[in-house]
Amino acid sequence: MTGKTADLHTHTNFSDGTDTPARVVELAYEAGLCALAITDHDNTDARASVQELAQRKGIELIPGIELSASLNGIEVHILGYFFDGTNPILRAHLSQQRTRRIQRVREMVARLKKLGMAIEPDEVFQLAQAGTVGRPHVARVLVQHGYVCSVSEAFSRYLADGQPAYVEGSPLAPSGIIRLVLEAGGIPVLAHPIFLKQDALIEQFVREGLVGLEVYHSSHTQEMIRRYEAMADALNLLKTGGSDYHGSSKEGLPIGASGVSYSVVEALKQWQASHSISGQ
Ligand code: AMP
Ligand code: FE
Ligand code: FE
Ligand code: ZN
Repeated sequence: MTGKTADLHTHTNFSDGTDTPARVVELAYEAGLCALAITDHDNTDARASVQELAQRKGIELIPGIELSASLNGIEVHILGYFFDGTNPILRAHLSQQRTRRIQRVREMVARLKKLGMAIEPDEVFQLAQAGTVGRPHVARVLVQHGYVCSVSEAFSRYLADGQPAYVEGSPLAPSGIIRLVLEAGGIPVLAHPIFLKQDALIEQFVREGLVGLEVYHSSHTQEMIRRYEAMADALNLLKTGGSDYHGSSKEGLPIGASGVSYSVVEALKQWQASHSISGQ
């Protein structure tokens, strides 16, 4: 893997990935990774179940999460690393998100019904099982019913921000999420900045406490990577990266893609040790 040995962005079936945490760790091992962050949406439950397995395989499991934020109808994702997973403010937020996301699915289903698509919330909840429920599960039910041909069509027609069945994923703006991660002793990083579509917002997030930018991501072209590298350097942001692995729901995207050198993990640890508000 030519020196790229850490994947800092992966999903399991504790959110919208299709693989179990154990399978993700196995795949990380097969890919020759030395460090892995499972970053499920609004959920930290996967890590505990694979800590022992990861240790046996010699893979460092980094505390990680991908938190949803909303800004004027735009969906923003903030990754958090090396936070204290027992922090009460974080735990309360995740528990509220769990309830809110269930309500959000009901709202999305109601909107879809008005648009002529009859699906039931329970079909969506069944796909998510105990994990974080989200738009990909709604999209899969729409595919199952034949209302759309693919998950990506479900997003582009109905579920993506700005589309008729879109409901915001979080009541908090990025500033609130950034503060939450910092208060839990963690490191907030803007995920896949290309989806933000507005580079100008990155400077605002930096003023609000953002520490890192996910420069290396499977959706970034070489040109984007160069642009975000320059931006991160100019704004003094840590440069992170990861595959955004989702199992079979993102075909052809292997774990370890857009991975980074272990020195990035060391830089994160160093930042955490010297800056974190609450420490660990
Ligand atoms: P949610 O957490 O419910 O807001 O869903 C966000 C997730 O939906 C992202 O993490 C992706 O996995 C998936 N997603 C977002 N946009 C698209 C898209 N255009 N096509 C397919 N999947 C998408
Ligand atoms: Fe996802
Ligand atoms: Fe994301
Ligand atoms: Zn992700």
